[in-house]
Amino acid sequence: MKKTLGFGLQALKNFLSGEKQPTDIYIMLTSRCNSRCIMCNEWKEKPFELPKKAWFSIIDDLVGFCGSFAKINFSGGEVLTMPSGLDIVQHCASKNFATGIVTNGFSINKAIARKLLTMGLFNINVSVDGLKPETHDFFRGFQGAGKRVFESIDILLNEKKKADSKTRIILKTIIARQNITEIIPLINWVKKKKLDGISFQPIAQTFGEDENVNWYKKSNLWPRKNELSKINKVLDEIVSLKKLGYQIYNPLSALQAFKAYFKNPSVVSRGECLVGSEDLTIFCNGEVILCGKFPVIGDLRIKDKDIKKIWYSKKADKVRKMIKNCRKKCLLTCYTKYSFLEKIKLFFQSSSPKLH
Ligand code: SF4
Ligand code: SF4
Repeated sequence: MKKTLGFGLQALKNFLSGEKQPTDIYIMLTSRCNSRCIMCNEWKEKPFELPKKAWFSIIDDLVGFCGSFAKINFSGGEVLTMPSGLDIVQHCASKNFATGIVTNGFSINKAIARKLLTMGLFNINVSVDGLKPETHDFFRGFQGAGKRVFESIDILLNEKKKADSKTRIILKTIIARQNITEIIPLINWVKKKKLDGISFQPIAQTFGEDENVNWYKKSNLWPRKNELSKINKVLDEIVSLKKLGYQIYNPLSALQAFKAYFKNPSVVSRGECLVGSEDLTIFCNGEVILCGKFPVIGDLRIKDKDIKKIWYSKKADKVRKMIKNCRKKCLLTCYTKYSFLEKIKLFFQSSSPKLH
């Protein structure tokens, strides 16, 4: 709760003062991955990682800059396949940052779950793309992926109970044509399992591919025209369940935008984008960006090795201007912004008993 409050306070500080600092920091610790997902090319790349010492120093710099009033989210690749991944995440959590991790769950055993649930993490996001194990196998590219991830969720829930941990365990789910009939059952399953919630990401272009606005026309994951009404019905149901108090973490405005996106992804625009003034992403090779669709603003390995200097640099300002005028058709939910009022609501949601 203290960490949620800190995150809220940073948002309030940014809201009231002209001076902005990042509130949402994404650290992609490694490109190493033990999955073979069909919507991602990351696992095909040669793994790259900075040493643990370098990450400790980057995190300490972030504390100095943001005063621990930011939310830091670790992803990859798969963080838990990196030998020092857990230590780095723990170092961050120990600095009182609201720290989260995204995992495919395949490396989770009792010992890792216990460690994750006792280090004071804000949340653990587990990728699950279907209620039927074989649906998850399809998306994750190998047989047994579904069985494995559901076992990991049970281990996490058990350890959470044993440790009386406040860390939220949240599912992250793609919406694509192959899992559309499993979305509502998955929301009900989240409630039945007493998980802390679920958030959705509509299928996007394969991660790591060169940008192509027509990607969806050839994608097997993109719904066919005759499947659109089915998708719309499910999206309406998601909105209704959210209004009933189900823990669905996408803002209502984003859920409503999904409909237009599935109708035609090349016409959905986000309006003025706030990503340039709130988000910061650090890649596993130390490069820093504001948004993945725009140029790198600095490199923590070389000369700029100070995150504050990079954030306030001319290069960053130039990219910020480009972002402000960005009219790209993007619906990346990791870049979805909550309004100030929504952040306050989330704060009260997270500090009051769950509705399910
Ligand atoms: S989507 Fe995530 S889990 Fe899947 S291959 Fe890419 S990095 Fe790994
Ligand atoms: S691509 Fe999307 S997230 Fe990035 S600046 Fe444009 S609208 Fe914002």
